[in-house]
Amino acid sequence: MTDLHRLSIREMAEGLKSAQFSSRELTQHYLDRIAKLDDRVNSYVTVTPEYALAQADAADNLLKNGTAGTLAGVPLAHKDIFCTQGIKTSAGSKMLDNFISPYDATVVAKAKAAGLVTLGKVNMDEFAMGSTSESSFYGATKNPWNLEHVPGGSSGGSAAVVAADLAPFATGTDTGGSIRQPASFCGLTGLKPTYGRVSRFGMIAFASSLDQGGPMARSAEDCAFLMNTIAGHDAKDSTSINKEVDDYVANLNATAVKGLRIGIPKQYFNVQGLDAEVKARVEESLKTLENMGAILVEIDLNMTEAYVPTYYLIAPAEASSNLSRYDGVRYGYRCENPKDILDLHKRSRSEAFGAEVQRRILIGTYALSAGYYDAYYVKAQKVRRLIQQDFLTAFENVDVIAAPSAPTTAYKIGANLSPTEMYLGDIYTLAVNLAGLPAINAPVGFDKDSLPVGLQLIGNYWSESQLLSIVHQYQQNTDWHTKRAAIAEENV
Ligand code: GLN
Repeated sequence: MTDLHRLSIREMAEGLKSAQFSSRELTQHYLDRIAKLDDRVNSYVTVTPEYALAQADAADNLLKNGTAGTLAGVPLAHKDIFCTQGIKTSAGSKMLDNFISPYDATVVAKAKAAGLVTLGKVNMDEFAMGSTSESSFYGATKNPWNLEHVPGGSSGGSAAVVAADLAPFATGTDTGGSIRQPASFCGLTGLKPTYGRVSRFGMIAFASSLDQGGPMARSAEDCAFLMNTIAGHDAKDSTSINKEVDDYVANLNATAVKGLRIGIPKQYFNVQGLDAEVKARVEESLKTLENMGAILVEIDLNMTEAYVPTYYLIAPAEASSNLSRYDGVRYGYRCENPKDILDLHKRSRSEAFGAEVQRRILIGTYALSAGYYDAYYVKAQKVRRLIQQDFLTAFENVDVIAAPSAPTTAYKIGANLSPTEMYLGDIYTLAVNLAGLPAINAPVGFDKDSLPVGLQLIGNYWSESQLLSIVHQYQQNTDWHTKRAAIAEENV
Protein backbone atom coordinates (compact mmCIF):
# COMPACT_ATOMS: atom_id res chain seq x y z
CA MET A 1 0.00 0.00 0.00
CA THR A 2 1.54 3.29 -1.05
CA ASP A 3 -0.94 5.69 0.49
CA LEU A 4 -1.15 4.63 4.12
CA HIS A 5 -0.02 8.16 5.04
CA ARG A 6 -3.33 9.53 3.80
CA LEU A 7 -5.29 7.82 6.55
CA SER A 8 -6.57 9.69 9.59
CA ILE A 9 -5.48 8.44 13.01
CA ARG A 10 -8.88 6.82 13.49
CA GLU A 11 -8.54 5.02 10.15
CA MET A 12 -5.00 3.93 10.99
CA ALA A 13 -6.09 2.53 14.34
CA GLU A 14 -9.02 0.73 12.72
CA GLY A 15 -6.87 -0.62 9.89
CA LEU A 16 -4.43 -2.05 12.44
CA LYS A 17 -7.20 -3.58 14.56
CA SER A 18 -8.83 -5.24 11.54
CA ALA A 19 -5.41 -6.44 10.29
CA GLN A 20 -5.68 -4.61 6.94
CA PHE A 21 -2.02 -3.79 7.52
CA SER A 22 0.44 -4.37 10.34
CA SER A 23 2.22 -1.77 12.44
CA ARG A 24 5.48 -2.98 10.87
CA GLU A 25 4.12 -2.18 7.38
CA LEU A 26 2.78 1.18 8.50
CA THR A 27 6.01 2.06 10.31
CA GLN A 28 8.17 0.95 7.39
CA HIS A 29 6.01 3.04 5.09
CA TYR A 30 6.82 6.17 7.11
CA LEU A 31 10.49 5.22 7.41
CA ASP A 32 10.62 4.90 3.61
CA ARG A 33 9.02 8.30 3.16
CA ILE A 34 11.46 9.84 5.63
CA ALA A 35 14.44 8.27 3.83
CA LYS A 36 13.18 9.49 0.48
CA LEU A 37 11.81 12.94 1.27
CA ASP A 38 13.34 14.36 4.44
CA ASP A 39 16.51 15.60 2.74
CA ARG A 40 14.31 18.32 1.29
CA VAL A 41 12.46 19.18 4.50
CA ASN A 42 15.16 18.67 7.16
CA SER A 43 12.56 17.86 9.77
CA TYR A 44 14.17 14.98 11.66
CA VAL A 45 17.21 15.46 13.90
CA THR A 46 17.26 11.73 14.66
CA VAL A 47 15.41 8.91 12.91
CA THR A 48 15.16 5.71 14.95
CA PRO A 49 14.33 2.91 12.48
CA GLU A 50 15.38 -0.10 14.58
CA TYR A 51 13.76 1.25 17.69
CA ALA A 52 10.59 2.02 15.72
CA LEU A 53 10.40 -1.41 14.10
CA ALA A 54 10.92 -3.15 17.45
CA GLN A 55 8.08 -1.09 18.92
CA ALA A 56 5.98 -1.90 15.83
CA ASP A 57 6.57 -5.63 16.28
CA ALA A 58 5.62 -5.40 19.94
CA ALA A 59 2.42 -3.56 18.94
CA ASP A 60 1.69 -6.18 16.28
CA ASN A 61 1.87 -8.87 18.96
CA LEU A 62 -0.62 -7.03 21.12
CA LEU A 63 -2.85 -6.49 18.09
CA LYS A 64 -2.70 -10.22 17.31
CA ASN A 65 -3.66 -11.34 20.78
CA GLY A 66 -6.38 -8.70 21.11
CA THR A 67 -4.86 -6.78 24.03
CA ALA A 68 -3.83 -3.65 22.11
CA GLY A 69 -4.98 -0.20 23.24
CA THR A 70 -6.65 2.27 20.87
CA LEU A 71 -3.49 3.68 19.32
CA ALA A 72 -1.19 0.64 19.52
CA GLY A 73 0.98 0.47 16.42
CA VAL A 74 0.35 4.02 15.21
CA PRO A 75 3.60 5.95 14.60
CA LEU A 76 4.45 9.43 15.84
CA ALA A 77 7.37 11.83 16.09
CA HIS A 78 8.50 13.67 19.22
CA LYS A 79 9.84 17.20 19.34
CA ASP A 80 13.51 16.92 20.27
CA ILE A 81 12.77 18.68 23.56
CA PHE A 82 11.17 15.57 25.11
CA CYS A 83 13.69 13.29 26.79
CA THR A 84 13.83 9.85 25.24
CA GLN A 85 15.71 7.14 27.08
CA GLY A 86 18.71 5.93 25.11
CA ILE A 87 18.04 8.34 22.23
CA LYS A 88 19.68 11.70 21.64
CA THR A 89 17.68 14.64 22.99
CA SER A 90 19.24 17.83 21.64
CA ALA A 91 16.66 20.61 22.09
CA GLY A 92 18.06 21.84 18.77
CA SER A 93 21.28 22.91 20.48
CA LYS A 94 24.96 22.20 20.05
CA MET A 95 24.97 22.18 23.86
CA LEU A 96 23.04 18.89 23.90
CA ASP A 97 24.30 17.42 20.63
CA ASN A 98 25.97 14.67 22.67
CA PHE A 99 23.18 14.19 25.23
CA ILE A 100 21.58 10.75 25.44
CA SER A 101 18.79 10.96 27.95
CA PRO A 102 18.84 8.34 30.72
CA TYR A 103 15.05 8.48 31.10
CA ASP A 104 11.82 9.15 29.22
CA ALA A 105 9.72 12.29 29.59
CA THR A 106 6.25 11.48 30.94
CA VAL A 107 4.73 12.36 27.56
CA VAL A 108 7.09 9.90 25.88
CA ALA A 109 6.46 7.22 28.51
CA LYS A 110 2.70 7.61 28.08
CA ALA A 111 2.99 7.34 24.30
CA LYS A 112 5.11 4.20 24.72
CA ALA A 113 2.67 2.66 27.18
CA ALA A 114 -0.14 3.27 24.68
CA GLY A 115 1.82 1.29 22.08
CA LEU A 116 2.61 4.27 19.86
CA VAL A 117 5.70 3.83 17.70
CA THR A 118 8.45 6.48 17.86
CA LEU A 119 9.77 7.30 14.36
CA GLY A 120 12.32 9.76 15.71
CA LYS A 121 12.98 13.20 17.11
CA VAL A 122 12.22 16.34 15.19
CA ASN A 123 13.87 19.70 14.72
CA MET A 124 13.09 22.87 16.63
CA ASP A 125 14.44 26.31 17.43
CA GLU A 126 17.32 26.05 19.88
CA PHE A 127 15.83 25.47 23.35
CA ALA A 128 12.45 26.40 21.80
CA MET A 129 13.44 30.05 21.49
CA GLY A 130 12.26 31.37 18.18
CA SER A 131 9.45 31.44 15.66
CA THR A 132 11.09 30.00 12.53
CA SER A 133 13.10 26.89 13.51
CA GLU A 134 16.10 28.62 11.95
CA SER A 135 17.92 28.90 15.27
CA SER A 136 18.41 25.12 15.40
CA PHE A 137 21.98 23.82 15.47
CA TYR A 138 20.78 21.32 12.84
CA GLY A 139 19.83 23.94 10.28
CA ALA A 140 16.49 25.34 9.21
CA THR A 141 13.52 23.07 8.65
CA LYS A 142 11.58 23.84 5.45
CA ASN A 143 7.88 24.50 5.17
CA PRO A 144 6.36 21.61 3.16
CA TRP A 145 3.98 24.06 1.43
CA ASN A 146 6.89 26.01 0.03
CA LEU A 147 10.40 24.80 0.74
CA GLU A 148 11.76 28.36 0.60
CA HIS A 149 9.69 29.31 3.62
CA VAL A 150 10.02 28.50 7.31
CA PRO A 151 7.58 26.08 8.98
CA GLY A 152 7.33 28.42 11.97
CA GLY A 153 8.67 27.64 15.40
CA SER A 154 9.71 26.61 17.74
CA SER A 155 7.94 23.28 17.00
CA GLY A 156 8.73 23.68 13.29
CA GLY A 157 9.93 20.10 12.85
CA SER A 158 6.73 18.77 14.44
CA ALA A 159 4.65 20.82 12.00
CA ALA A 160 6.77 19.95 8.99
CA VAL A 161 6.72 16.17 9.57
CA VAL A 162 2.96 16.16 9.72
CA ALA A 163 2.47 18.53 6.77
CA ALA A 164 4.86 16.44 4.63
CA ASP A 165 3.34 13.15 5.86
CA LEU A 166 6.61 12.06 7.42
CA ALA A 167 4.66 11.22 10.60
CA PRO A 168 0.89 11.08 11.14
CA PHE A 169 1.06 13.31 14.19
CA ALA A 170 3.64 14.74 16.55
CA THR A 171 4.21 16.19 19.97
CA GLY A 172 5.08 19.86 20.31
CA THR A 173 5.57 22.38 23.10
CA ASP A 174 4.19 25.86 23.45
CA THR A 175 5.75 28.49 25.71
CA GLY A 176 4.54 31.49 23.76
CA GLY A 177 2.94 30.02 20.63
CA SER A 178 5.26 27.26 19.53
CA ILE A 179 2.46 24.77 18.81
CA ARG A 180 -0.12 27.19 17.40
CA GLN A 181 2.10 29.32 15.16
CA PRO A 182 3.84 26.44 13.31
CA ALA A 183 0.46 24.69 13.03
CA SER A 184 -0.81 27.90 11.45
CA PHE A 185 2.19 28.22 9.09
CA CYS A 186 1.86 24.56 7.99
CA GLY A 187 -1.93 24.24 7.69
CA LEU A 188 -2.39 21.98 10.71
CA THR A 189 -4.43 21.66 13.87
CA GLY A 190 -2.45 22.17 17.08
CA LEU A 191 -3.60 22.39 20.68
CA LYS A 192 -1.86 24.21 23.52
CA PRO A 193 -3.50 22.74 26.65
CA THR A 194 -4.24 24.51 29.93
CA TYR A 195 -1.05 24.93 31.97
CA GLY A 196 -0.81 21.82 34.14
CA ARG A 197 -2.80 19.48 31.89
CA VAL A 198 0.20 17.76 30.23
CA SER A 199 3.21 16.82 32.34
CA ARG A 200 6.38 18.84 31.90
CA PHE A 201 8.52 16.09 33.44
CA GLY A 202 11.36 15.33 31.06
CA MET A 203 10.50 18.23 28.78
CA ILE A 204 13.64 20.35 28.59
CA ALA A 205 12.75 23.58 30.36
CA PHE A 206 12.65 26.94 28.62
CA ALA A 207 10.31 29.07 30.79
CA SER A 208 8.78 26.76 33.36
CA SER A 209 5.71 28.84 34.23
CA LEU A 210 4.74 29.00 30.55
CA ASP A 211 5.89 25.69 28.99
CA GLN A 212 3.20 23.20 28.00
CA GLY A 213 3.27 20.17 25.69
CA GLY A 214 0.51 19.29 23.27
CA PRO A 215 -0.50 17.56 20.03
CA MET A 216 0.04 18.67 16.42
CA ALA A 217 -1.88 16.87 13.70
CA ARG A 218 -4.02 17.34 10.62
CA SER A 219 -7.38 17.47 12.37
CA ALA A 220 -8.97 18.12 15.74
CA GLU A 221 -9.93 14.45 15.82
CA ASP A 222 -6.30 13.37 15.37
CA CYS A 223 -5.27 15.82 18.13
CA ALA A 224 -7.96 14.42 20.41
CA PHE A 225 -6.50 10.91 20.08
CA LEU A 226 -3.05 12.14 21.10
CA MET A 227 -4.48 14.25 23.94
CA ASN A 228 -6.22 11.16 25.31
CA THR A 229 -2.78 9.56 25.50
CA ILE A 230 -0.61 12.38 26.90
CA ALA A 231 -2.90 14.40 29.22
CA GLY A 232 -3.16 13.71 32.92
CA HIS A 233 -1.78 14.27 36.38
CA ASP A 234 1.86 13.45 37.03
CA ALA A 235 3.34 13.45 40.52
CA LYS A 236 6.76 14.08 38.92
CA ASP A 237 5.67 17.57 37.78
CA SER A 238 4.78 19.81 40.73
CA THR A 239 2.69 22.07 38.47
CA SER A 240 0.67 19.20 37.03
CA ILE A 241 -2.96 19.43 38.11
CA ASN A 242 -4.80 16.50 39.64
CA LYS A 243 -8.02 16.81 37.75
CA GLU A 244 -9.95 14.20 35.85
CA VAL A 245 -9.04 13.99 32.16
CA ASP A 246 -11.83 14.28 29.59
CA ASP A 247 -12.28 11.70 26.86
CA TYR A 248 -11.41 14.15 24.09
CA VAL A 249 -12.40 11.74 21.32
CA ALA A 250 -15.78 10.90 22.82
CA ASN A 251 -16.44 14.64 23.30
CA LEU A 252 -15.74 15.66 19.69
CA ASN A 253 -19.38 16.53 19.07
CA ALA A 254 -20.27 17.46 22.62
CA THR A 255 -20.09 21.25 22.33
CA ALA A 256 -23.00 22.94 20.60
CA VAL A 257 -21.79 25.44 18.02
CA LYS A 258 -25.35 26.71 17.81
CA GLY A 259 -25.59 29.51 20.33
CA LEU A 260 -21.85 29.43 21.09
CA ARG A 261 -20.65 32.92 21.94
CA ILE A 262 -17.36 33.73 20.21
CA GLY A 263 -15.58 36.88 21.40
CA ILE A 264 -13.86 38.99 18.76
CA PRO A 265 -11.34 41.28 20.47
CA LYS A 266 -11.44 44.71 18.79
CA GLN A 267 -7.78 45.30 19.59
CA TYR A 268 -6.67 42.09 17.84
CA PHE A 269 -8.05 42.96 14.45
CA ASN A 270 -6.51 46.44 14.45
CA VAL A 271 -2.98 45.28 15.14
CA GLN A 272 -0.43 47.00 12.94
CA GLY A 273 1.23 44.37 10.80
CA LEU A 274 -1.82 42.11 10.53
CA ASP A 275 -1.69 40.90 6.94
CA ALA A 276 -4.85 41.72 4.97
CA GLU A 277 -5.21 38.20 3.62
CA VAL A 278 -4.74 36.61 7.04
CA LYS A 279 -7.41 38.93 8.35
CA ALA A 280 -9.73 38.06 5.48
CA ARG A 281 -9.32 34.27 5.87
CA VAL A 282 -9.87 34.47 9.63
CA GLU A 283 -12.98 36.57 9.12
CA GLU A 284 -14.28 34.10 6.54
CA SER A 285 -13.81 31.25 9.00
CA LEU A 286 -15.72 33.20 11.63
CA LYS A 287 -18.49 33.72 9.08
CA THR A 288 -18.60 29.94 8.60
CA LEU A 289 -18.88 29.43 12.35
CA GLU A 290 -21.63 32.05 12.41
CA ASN A 291 -23.45 30.15 9.68
CA MET A 292 -23.14 27.06 11.86
CA GLY A 293 -25.00 28.93 14.59
CA ALA A 294 -22.29 30.68 16.59
CA ILE A 295 -22.86 34.23 17.82
CA LEU A 296 -20.01 36.68 17.23
CA VAL A 297 -19.59 39.20 20.04
CA GLU A 298 -17.19 42.12 19.91
CA ILE A 299 -15.10 42.30 23.08
CA ASP A 300 -12.26 44.33 24.55
CA LEU A 301 -8.91 42.93 25.58
CA ASN A 302 -7.34 46.13 26.79
CA MET A 303 -3.96 44.69 27.77
CA THR A 304 -3.00 43.70 24.20
CA GLU A 305 -0.11 46.15 23.98
CA ALA A 306 1.46 44.67 27.10
CA TYR A 307 1.70 41.08 25.78
CA VAL A 308 5.02 41.28 23.95
CA PRO A 309 6.99 43.27 26.56
CA THR A 310 5.62 41.21 29.45
CA TYR A 311 6.41 37.86 27.85
CA TYR A 312 9.82 39.00 26.67
CA LEU A 313 10.76 39.79 30.27
CA ILE A 314 9.29 36.77 32.01
CA ALA A 315 10.31 34.13 29.47
CA PRO A 316 13.97 35.22 29.24
CA ALA A 317 14.14 35.61 33.04
CA GLU A 318 13.03 32.02 33.54
CA ALA A 319 15.23 30.87 30.68
CA SER A 320 18.33 32.47 32.15
CA SER A 321 17.71 30.58 35.37
CA ASN A 322 16.82 27.26 33.69
CA LEU A 323 19.80 27.38 31.35
CA SER A 324 22.32 27.99 34.11
CA ARG A 325 22.53 24.20 34.48
CA TYR A 326 24.45 24.00 31.18
CA ASP A 327 27.78 24.84 32.73
CA GLY A 328 30.12 22.56 30.81
CA VAL A 329 30.41 20.30 33.87
CA ARG A 330 27.18 18.42 34.37
CA TYR A 331 25.57 18.27 30.94
CA GLY A 332 26.39 18.46 27.33
CA TYR A 333 29.11 20.37 25.56
CA ARG A 334 32.46 21.11 27.18
CA CYS A 335 35.06 23.38 25.57
CA GLU A 336 38.58 22.11 24.76
CA ASN A 337 41.48 22.73 27.17
CA PRO A 338 39.88 25.10 29.67
CA LYS A 339 42.40 27.22 31.60
CA ASP A 340 40.36 27.20 34.80
CA ILE A 341 36.81 26.69 35.96
CA LEU A 342 35.64 30.15 34.90
CA ASP A 343 37.12 29.68 31.45
CA LEU A 344 35.36 26.29 31.29
CA HIS A 345 31.95 27.83 32.06
CA LYS A 346 32.46 30.84 29.83
CA ARG A 347 33.77 29.13 26.76
CA SER A 348 31.47 26.09 26.98
CA ARG A 349 28.45 28.38 27.06
CA SER A 350 29.75 30.82 24.44
CA GLU A 351 30.73 28.06 22.04
CA ALA A 352 27.60 25.92 22.40
CA PHE A 353 24.71 28.40 22.75
CA GLY A 354 23.54 30.15 19.61
CA ALA A 355 22.90 33.89 19.27
CA GLU A 356 19.20 33.89 20.19
CA VAL A 357 19.73 31.77 23.30
CA GLN A 358 22.58 34.05 24.41
CA ARG A 359 20.38 37.09 23.83
CA ARG A 360 17.64 35.61 26.05
CA ILE A 361 20.11 34.72 28.80
CA LEU A 362 21.49 38.26 28.76
CA ILE A 363 18.04 39.89 28.84
CA GLY A 364 16.85 37.52 31.54
CA THR A 365 19.90 37.88 33.74
CA TYR A 366 19.67 41.66 33.47
CA ALA A 367 15.96 41.65 34.35
CA LEU A 368 16.63 39.49 37.41
CA SER A 369 19.69 41.36 38.63
CA ALA A 370 19.43 43.00 42.05
CA GLY A 371 19.04 46.61 40.94
CA TYR A 372 16.45 45.91 38.25
CA TYR A 373 14.41 43.06 39.72
CA ASP A 374 11.52 45.23 40.94
CA ALA A 375 11.51 47.50 37.90
CA TYR A 376 11.34 44.65 35.40
CA TYR A 377 10.59 41.19 36.70
CA VAL A 378 8.23 42.08 39.54
CA LYS A 379 6.45 44.61 37.35
CA ALA A 380 6.06 42.09 34.55
CA GLN A 381 4.53 39.61 36.99
CA LYS A 382 1.98 42.23 38.03
CA VAL A 383 1.10 42.98 34.42
CA ARG A 384 0.83 39.25 33.81
CA ARG A 385 -1.89 39.13 36.43
CA LEU A 386 -3.76 41.99 34.71
CA ILE A 387 -3.58 40.13 31.40
CA GLN A 388 -5.09 37.05 33.02
CA GLN A 389 -7.81 39.19 34.61
CA ASP A 390 -8.62 40.70 31.20
CA PHE A 391 -9.36 37.21 29.87
CA LEU A 392 -11.38 36.16 32.91
CA THR A 393 -13.54 39.25 32.50
CA ALA A 394 -14.02 38.47 28.81
CA PHE A 395 -15.06 34.89 29.60
CA GLU A 396 -17.92 36.18 31.73
CA ASN A 397 -19.57 37.18 28.48
CA VAL A 398 -18.27 34.75 25.83
CA ASP A 399 -17.46 31.03 25.59
CA VAL A 400 -14.31 31.29 23.48
CA ILE A 401 -12.21 34.06 21.95
CA ALA A 402 -11.16 34.15 18.30
CA ALA A 403 -7.90 35.55 16.92
CA PRO A 404 -5.41 34.91 14.17
CA SER A 405 -2.61 32.62 15.39
CA ALA A 406 -0.06 34.84 13.68
CA PRO A 407 -0.25 38.21 11.92
CA THR A 408 1.32 36.82 8.73
CA THR A 409 1.80 33.59 6.84
CA ALA A 410 5.17 31.79 6.88
CA TYR A 411 8.25 33.99 6.41
CA LYS A 412 10.89 33.26 3.83
CA ILE A 413 13.90 31.37 5.12
CA GLY A 414 16.67 33.87 5.81
CA ALA A 415 14.26 36.82 5.96
CA ASN A 416 16.50 37.98 8.78
CA LEU A 417 13.91 39.72 10.87
CA SER A 418 15.36 41.77 13.69
CA PRO A 419 14.69 40.30 17.14
CA THR A 420 11.97 42.87 17.81
CA GLU A 421 10.25 42.22 14.47
CA MET A 422 10.33 38.51 15.27
CA TYR A 423 8.97 39.05 18.78
CA LEU A 424 6.10 41.19 17.46
CA GLY A 425 5.03 38.23 15.31
CA ASP A 426 4.09 36.47 18.58
CA ILE A 427 1.48 39.10 19.48
CA TYR A 428 -1.50 36.71 19.21
CA THR A 429 -0.09 33.74 21.07
CA LEU A 430 1.86 35.01 24.10
CA ALA A 431 -1.04 36.09 26.34
CA VAL A 432 -2.48 32.58 26.37
CA ASN A 433 0.69 31.26 28.01
CA LEU A 434 0.94 34.21 30.39
CA ALA A 435 -2.62 33.44 31.54
CA GLY A 436 -2.16 29.64 31.41
CA LEU A 437 -5.18 29.19 29.13
CA PRO A 438 -5.76 26.56 26.43
CA ALA A 439 -5.93 27.53 22.75
CA ILE A 440 -6.10 25.78 19.41
CA ASN A 441 -5.07 26.57 15.85
CA ALA A 442 -7.20 25.40 12.94
CA PRO A 443 -6.31 25.81 9.25
CA VAL A 444 -8.77 28.13 7.51
CA GLY A 445 -7.42 28.71 4.01
CA PHE A 446 -4.46 30.11 2.09
CA ASP A 447 -2.98 33.41 1.00
CA LYS A 448 -2.23 34.30 -2.63
CA ASP A 449 1.11 32.47 -2.40
CA SER A 450 -0.67 29.27 -1.33
CA LEU A 451 0.66 29.50 2.22
CA PRO A 452 -1.73 28.38 4.98
CA VAL A 453 -3.59 30.72 7.34
CA GLY A 454 -4.72 29.72 10.82
CA LEU A 455 -7.57 30.66 13.14
CA GLN A 456 -6.89 30.58 16.86
CA LEU A 457 -9.61 29.86 19.38
CA ILE A 458 -8.78 30.60 23.01
CA GLY A 459 -10.82 28.88 25.70
CA ASN A 460 -11.28 29.24 29.42
CA TYR A 461 -9.33 26.93 31.75
CA TRP A 462 -9.84 23.18 31.08
CA SER A 463 -11.84 23.78 27.89
CA GLU A 464 -9.68 21.51 25.71
CA SER A 465 -12.70 19.31 24.89
CA GLN A 466 -14.72 22.35 23.90
CA LEU A 467 -11.97 23.74 21.64
CA LEU A 468 -11.40 20.38 19.95
CA SER A 469 -15.13 19.92 19.53
CA ILE A 470 -15.67 23.32 17.91
CA VAL A 471 -12.80 22.79 15.48
CA HIS A 472 -13.93 19.23 14.77
CA GLN A 473 -17.37 20.45 13.76
CA TYR A 474 -15.86 23.26 11.70
CA GLN A 475 -13.78 20.59 9.97
CA GLN A 476 -16.92 18.56 9.24
CA ASN A 477 -18.20 21.61 7.36
CA THR A 478 -14.99 22.62 5.56
CA ASP A 479 -12.06 20.85 3.92
CA TRP A 480 -9.05 23.07 4.66
CA HIS A 481 -7.59 20.44 7.00
CA THR A 482 -7.66 17.84 4.22
CA LYS A 483 -5.47 19.89 1.84
CA ARG A 484 -1.99 18.52 1.33
CA ALA A 485 1.28 20.12 0.29
CA ALA A 486 2.77 18.83 -2.99
CA ILE A 487 5.51 16.95 -1.16
CA ALA A 488 2.91 15.10 0.93
CA GLU A 489 1.24 14.00 -2.31
CA GLU A 490 4.45 12.32 -3.49
CA ASN A 491 4.40 8.56 -3.20
CA VAL A 492 7.63 6.72 -2.55
N1 GLN B 1 8.37 32.56 19.66
C1 GLN B 1 8.30 32.57 21.09
C2 GLN B 1 9.69 32.69 21.67
O1 GLN B 1 10.62 32.69 20.92
C3 GLN B 1 7.60 31.34 21.61
C4 GLN B 1 8.44 30.14 21.62
C5 GLN B 1 7.77 28.95 22.24
O2 GLN B 1 6.55 28.90 22.39
N2 GLN B 1 8.57 27.98 22.63
O3 GLN B 1 9.86 32.79 22.85
